[in-house]
Amino acid sequence: MGGGFGTNQLSGYSEQYNCPHGFVSNEHRVYGLNYQKTWVERAWMDALTSATKRLLDEAVGIGAHGVIGIVDRSIHHTENATFEISLSGTAVGVDDCERPVRPFTTFLSGQKLNKLVEAGFAPVEIALGISSVGVISSCITEYQLRGSGSVFGTNIGNWGVAQQGEIDQLTRAQVAARSIVRDRVRHQLGGDVLHGAALTVRTIESQEGPQVETVLRGNRVRVFKEFAKMPTPRPVVRLVDR
Ligand SMILES: [Zn+2]
Repeated sequence: MGGGFGTNQLSGYSEQYNCPHGFVSNEHRVYGLNYQKTWVERAWMDALTSATKRLLDEAVGIGAHGVIGIVDRSIHHTENATFEISLSGTAVGVDDCERPVRPFTTFLSGQKLNKLVEAGFAPVEIALGISSVGVISSCITEYQLRGSGSVFGTNIGNWGVAQQGEIDQLTRAQVAARSIVRDRVRHQLGGDVLHGAALTVRTIESQEGPQVETVLRGNRVRVFKEFAKMPTPRPVVRLVDR
């Protein structure tokens, strides 16, 4: 079934925000920067690749066809850009069906998985991507984040600073982070369909400025038959009147 997370493009997004004020003081920031933290993304994807390999090895070891109801947990040690990732799920076998070389994986389980198969889709693998964009605030962004409107702290002139509304540099960082993670997951699909995608966006405060981190989770699935009503499940417990 192929796939894997290690071979995605890691080109770097970056965008510079120049100070429009001219000389203000030596402490004044000359420019701000949005930049893709490719090394953070790489560390996360490497960790994910090893966790996935371990999960699949275990599944193969016990002769499973696939792993369903996967839960992922990750801890990001920001100080040295390392990640701990754990994946767990339920190994399953499929009746009357040859074992695939690479077991399938899915976040789905129970009724949701049942509905998917009923609709004619087979689970292929979990699709999981991350993006990380750092923001070094420009002078304007810094004023906006602090909530003061001008270069001299109080309202002496506007200096091109929006008094209210969105913070352009931060919005751009979020838009970029979303677009990077979407592209990344799209590359994992290889012509298959993404099912049940969920995107989370976090903005983490750090010393140099906000860091935008997004995670996109979904299920790579493939059409394998027409819609057909599933047979009634076999009862595991039967209550009998006596
Ligand atoms: Zn400035």
